[in-house]
Amino acid sequence: MKVEEKLYNNRYMVDEGHPHIAIVAKGAPSPALKSLVTVCPAGCYAEEEDGSVVVTPDGCLECGTCRVICAGTGELQWDYPRGGYGILFKFG
Ligand code: SF4
Repeated sequence: MKVEEKLYNNRYMVDEGHPHIAIVAKGAPSPALKSLVTVCPAGCYAEEEDGSVVVTPDGCLECGTCRVICAGTGELQWDYPRGGYGILFKFG
């Protein structure tokens, strides 16, 4: 079974209007922020035509990788989702 197929088994409770990750704009995105486009295992980050980076945390796995990578840049606001929201892992 492919990783993508396993990830598809997970479910995500979207907390409408309360994204748990947000990008804090500080001019041009740092290389660290840009790397998240390829590093995030859930594909939550995308680069726009103007070079800016956007995040859509709906399918976030809460692995914390982006939080660690951008810890020194101040470009990410990262919290766990509120109780009852976020990823619901399905194992097996
Ligand atoms: S915590 Fe992990 S899955 Fe969620 S947005 Fe960051 S890198 Fe992607």
